Amino acid sequence: MPKPKALVTRAIPQEALELVAARAEMDVWPHDEPPDPVTLRRMAARADGILTNIMDRIDANLFNAAPNLKVVSQMAVGLDNIDVAEATRRRIPVGYTPGVVSNATADQAFALLLAAARRLTEAERWVRKGGWKIAFHPLFWLGAEVHQATIGIIGMGSIGLEMAKRARGFDMRILYYSRTRKPEAEALYDMEFTDMPTLLAESDFVSLHVPLTPETHHLISANELAQMKPTAILVNAARGPVVDPTTLYQALRDKTIAAAALDVTSPEPIDPNDPLLTLENLVVAPHLGSSTVRTRTRMAVLAAQNLVAGLEGRPLPRCANPQVYP
Ligand code: NAP
Repeated sequence: MPKPKALVTRAIPQEALELVAARAEMDVWPHDEPPDPVTLRRMAARADGILTNIMDRIDANLFNAAPNLKVVSQMAVGLDNIDVAEATRRRIPVGYTPGVVSNATADQAFALLLAAARRLTEAERWVRKGGWKIAFHPLFWLGAEVHQATIGIIGMGSIGLEMAKRARGFDMRILYYSRTRKPEAEALYDMEFTDMPTLLAESDFVSLHVPLTPETHHLISANELAQMKPTAILVNAARGPVVDPTTLYQALRDKTIAAAALDVTSPEPIDPNDPLLTLENLVVAPHLGSSTVRTRTRMAVLAAQNLVAGLEGRPLPRCANPQVYP
């Protein structure tokens, strides 16, 4: 019997490629830049399964162009690039990689939180520019303390929970807001469930861990920023459009909040001439949440397992739309 055809839309860790190649005739897009939508549709035309990442738009146009498609396997937990409802209508299972990204992403969010609180990137730029001329001064580079401060976590899912665990280690007071209340997590990490206004008003750090959906688009905008303390720091390691970048720029420029630390921006990549990048009180990283060797390998292997399962007609180990199964 001929092997099924698999399209992998970007180079991924070798271990995962070997898994796919053992079970399928594999085609890997060889460039760092993603294929444009027309090229992607052309490449997907013969595919039985496709292993995607967040840069690939997977929608009705793609499905129409790929009549053999039996599975979409995303190497990410966020699915905002995929029309999952449309896949479900067509009974195409969508794989994803929940859980395996949570520790690395929470580590990154906490690293950003610490960097913004202690003004690390700003001070490093100053050192490199030759600004460090007096060895020590009692009033230079004063930042915010993290231990025993209040953190407000928005979105208490897998990554939000890992943030809470880290915050507990720093003896922080933990507030959270999420779509549904989590009594077990509250007991585990001594957290308080609040509404958004309370969380915004009382937190020294506001950390975002919701998926990007129509409801969370610009969840943090002028109204929310205005409710935060002038000393507060905003951390976004979720998706860029969860924050309105124009009003964030105004809040940081006018110091109505103290700082922001972004792992994700809107758009991505951020334009080097974006006004946000003129501000010293901004820490920014190029979407590095899951970018450790171990986590990216685990994500890729899970994505490969999902893909192969779908190609072979088995239920996906981690399926975002299990409704496709009877
Ligand atoms: P998750 O386990 O699904 O958690 C998301 C949480 O947000 C859930 O608790 C969810 O609902 C809550 N939520 C959803 N919509 C909401 C709304 N409108 N208002 C309030 N809460 C809402 O996902 P995760 O693994 O923690 O990942 C979260 C997001 O992080 C992903 O979707 C992805 O976009 C992003 N991410 C970024 C990186 C990076 O590299 N920076 C890496 C991985 C993931 P309930 O309260 O009902 O449970």
